[in-house]
Amino acid sequence: MLLRMEKIFLLIIFTCVFTNYAFCEELSPLKRTAFAPVLMYHDIRPQVSNNFDVSTEDFKKQLDWLMNNGYQTLSLDTYIDCVLNKKSFPEKSVLITFDDGYSGIYEYAAPELRKRNMHAVFFVIRDLLGTELPPDEHKAKYDYVTKEQVKALSTDPLFSIGSHTNTHSMPHQLTLLQLANEYFESKKYIEELTGKPCKAFAFPVGYYDKDLLKLVKKADYVLAFSVSDLGLLDQEARYSIPRIYMGVVMGQENMKLFKYSLENYHKLPKKIFAERFKWLDQYWKQKR
Ligand SMILES: [Zn+2]
Repeated sequence: MLLRMEKIFLLIIFTCVFTNYAFCEELSPLKRTAFAPVLMYHDIRPQVSNNFDVSTEDFKKQLDWLMNNGYQTLSLDTYIDCVLNKKSFPEKSVLITFDDGYSGIYEYAAPELRKRNMHAVFFVIRDLLGTELPPDEHKAKYDYVTKEQVKALSTDPLFSIGSHTNTHSMPHQLTLLQLANEYFESKKYIEELTGKPCKAFAFPVGYYDKDLLKLVKKADYVLAFSVSDLGLLDQEARYSIPRIYMGVVMGQENMKLFKYSLENYHKLPKKIFAERFKWLDQYWKQKR
């Protein structure tokens, strides 16, 4: 039987080991808690025509809310510096990103960001630059920035350009080799267009799995962004950074949800997102 002093000593050792372990876990760059929140926008335009647009009015309100509540927007390079060098992110910091490269980012989002001296990352789809898709059954409008506009955005020190593949194809539509080409070629294209390294990648619809993480790493991106962690954060967390979906749901003056999402970025349930991709998982796995 242990003496009282020995018991206390063991308890102290146990507590130290345990709390230290927990502490290290918290600081590990492989954990969601290590990342500053990331917002994922699509198009910004005066009239929204689908559920992933945000109206110019709501967008302005969200940027003003960030400013008035002491948030600073991070540049992609600062974000990278914190992740790679295991530095703590500034308290109340956020990374703003836009997927798909719709024309509204140039026309409406960039001017509002500039007015407030805010940083952002624009993920563009190589083959859709300068194109316009016919309106869908809901009369939604999809037109994309031109390469000249991408070039102009890239010269602004507030902004960075990332890749969102060549064609925005879903993984089950392509082979692994084709996907590898999509990731690699789009990066090369952006680097040639902007004259700057293309360091970040965003997965179309936020879907990824272990194989896709490997491809992104192989294509030499520094960071890659998803929508949710899909339970794979223990793999390569910096290649699957979750983002807060800023669609219509966050708009319509829904500042309460916006605030909640920002403050709970590190704890949002991953299960609901995993559910969302179940069909794609099965389809894609059958193919390989
Ligand atoms: Zn997309």
